[in-house]
Amino acid sequence: MMTGEQYRQSLRDGRQVYIAGRRIEDVTEEPLLRQSIAMTAANYDEFYRPGDDAYGPLFFIPRSVEDLRYQEVEQLKWANPTRTTSVSLLMLMTAASRIRSQLPGYADRVMDYFEHAKKADLRCVQTITDAKGNRALSPMKQDDPDLYVRVVSRDSGGVVIRGAKLHITGAPIDHDLIVMPTKRMKPGEEDWSIACAVPVNSPGVRIVATTYAPRPDLPTDYFPYSGRRNMAEGFVIFDDVYVPNERVFLDGEVEHSATFAHSLGLWERIGSVAHYVEMADTLVGMAQLIAEANGLQRIPHIRQKIAELINYATMVRAGLEAAVNNAQFTAEGWASPDELMTNAAKYFAALNYAEMVRNLHDVAGGSVLTAPMLDDLRHPETGEFVAKYMRTMEGVDAEHRMRLFHGIRDFTADTFGGWQSVTILQGGGGLHAQRLIVEKHYDMTHAKHLARKVCGIEEPDADPTPGSVS
Ligand SMILES: Cc1cc2nc3c(=O)[nH]c(=O)nc-3n(C[C@H](O)[C@H](O)[C@H](O)COP(=O)(O)OP(=O)(O)OC[C@H]3O[C@@H](n4cnc5c(N)ncnc54)[C@H](O)[C@@H]3O)c2cc1C
Repeated sequence: MMTGEQYRQSLRDGRQVYIAGRRIEDVTEEPLLRQSIAMTAANYDEFYRPGDDAYGPLFFIPRSVEDLRYQEVEQLKWANPTRTTSVSLLMLMTAASRIRSQLPGYADRVMDYFEHAKKADLRCVQTITDAKGNRALSPMKQDDPDLYVRVVSRDSGGVVIRGAKLHITGAPIDHDLIVMPTKRMKPGEEDWSIACAVPVNSPGVRIVATTYAPRPDLPTDYFPYSGRRNMAEGFVIFDDVYVPNERVFLDGEVEHSATFAHSLGLWERIGSVAHYVEMADTLVGMAQLIAEANGLQRIPHIRQKIAELINYATMVRAGLEAAVNNAQFTAEGWASPDELMTNAAKYFAALNYAEMVRNLHDVAGGSVLTAPMLDDLRHPETGEFVAKYMRTMEGVDAEHRMRLFHGIRDFTADTFGGWQSVTILQGGGGLHAQRLIVEKHYDMTHAKHLARKVCGIEEPDADPTPGSVS
């Protein structure tokens, strides 16, 4: 396993990373990436154990409900900076299990890659979302064929890929990109049916980084959450990148092109739901604390809004529990969360998030945006007045209330808050993507049977629209 320092050293590997219009020579020295790297390095140190056969929790394969709970709920805690490693590797293993009977060679390569990543203690990220051009058109109908990542040439040793993958979380500071088709490809779209592992420092890979890290010139206590926890995103360009055969997991088999995306959806969404459980409880806590600090905790409309938040948090937790407790098992004995429960919980959490944040903002008041900074409380000319007018009553001083306002703003209404609002909707695919999976796995036959029973309608010999909706 690597220590945090060895991880930092491993990032000085010639990777081509850019930010705000400039090339970063050494990502470990870049102020805007500093916190992302520090968090990841701390994560390496937290789990480090010496020895050739030691490996970390990101390489753990759940084999029971208890394992799954350990992996998704306890071990990969909220906003684990390198959770994408586990997500992308479990996605690969699930996909390998699903294609093994027809494409055993690719499945074996996935297993070899898993062992390689585990031994080298790599950090990986799922790299699926293409540029996509005109969304109404499939890859081969685009006016530029590179709008979806594709194979542009092949030789006996490997393939050359070209295109771009957008929004890749942590790409500037990870080791490997796990590339896969963004959706089902049609016959004729064999070149776009490519899944593979690509080291970030491969010749031809360029990453344009973005980040919600706070402006370095503002005090850290103005961003109590995102000042400590932030992650870089990557706009990843594949400018004719050579990928050796042993790292190619699919090349041209259109009928399996969606297997990777479906497998990813499952692991990405259960991880998101686990994250939302803690996020939702945090919203409840913020609303209750600011209501108490404002003296409003017994007012009926405030209590009603907090009750709605509590109900939201409880339903998200119930969805997580149901998804884990109804685990499904592959032929290899690997446990994965229930598809229906996972997707329904993710959909519910994402659909209602904006409304829950509205409740919090409604309860909290305008100082969420305008509370002075703590430095103004410490200033000899303003401090006395800020202290006087930001306090509310005995036991609620200005600093307590200001810290609450800054926390709520940072978490829900500033750069990170905006990032979180969009990410909850789009991460793991938009609402529509989850709705499709819910419809696919819902037991419609049973629902129609119950409805017929209530209405006194006989069961038909053959249902004209049998089974699940698809
Ligand atoms: C912060 C953040 C982190 C992310 N991290 C990663 C990551 O690590 N790796 C990764 O691969 N991706 C990542 N994503 C990408 C995420 O999965 C996508 O944003 C999401 O799938 C939507 O794709 P898009 O952004 O291209 O939007 P679009 O595809 O343009 O979607 C916008 C809307 O249009 C709808 N739409 C699009 N095409 C069609 C169509 N043909 N028919 C009907 N409706 C359509 C969608 O349902 C959606 O409602 C991340 C996204 C965010 C915001």
